[in-house]
Amino acid sequence: MNPRNRRQEITRVFDGRTHQVALCRGYRDGLPVFGWNEAPATLLTRSQLRAAGLRPNGQDPLALLIFRHRKPYARETVAELFSVELAAPKRTAAPGQMDHAMEARRTCCVCSCVQDYCVPTSTRECWTCFDDEQADRIEAAA
Ligand SMILES: [Zn+2]
Repeated sequence: MNPRNRRQEITRVFDGRTHQVALCRGYRDGLPVFGWNEAPATLLTRSQLRAAGLRPNGQDPLALLIFRHRKPYARETVAELFSVELAAPKRTAAPGQMDHAMEARRTCCVCSCVQDYCVPTSTRECWTCFDDEQADRIEAAA
C-alpha cells in the first residue's frame, strides 16, 4: 500500500476524558480503524495496557488497530483499542503493590539492604553477602 494514497477520514474518539480528533482508515464494526502508530496516544491495546499495569476494566473497545507484520506470510492483525482514561489498575498488582513486590525482590535477607537489582531467588542474598559467605566457606574449607 502506498502511504500517500491511503484513504483517511477524520474521526472523533471519546477516550473517557476528552474527544480525540484523529485520522482513521475507515470503520469496521462501527469502530474507527487505525494503522500502526496512527491511533491517539490515549488508546492502547490490551497488551499495551497490560504492559502499563492496567486492564480494560469492562469497557468496550473504542477503536481498532489493524496492521500487518513485515513477514509476507503474516496475516492482518486486528487489536482492540481501549481508553487509558477508563482503564483500571490490574487487580492482582496495583502500582503500589507492584513497587512493594519489586522492593521485596531487591531486598537482601542477610543485610536487609535494598539493592538496585533483584537478588537471586535461590539465595535471597545480595551479591556482597553472597560473596562474603562464599569467602567464609572457602576459608572454613582451607
Ligand atoms: Zn546483603
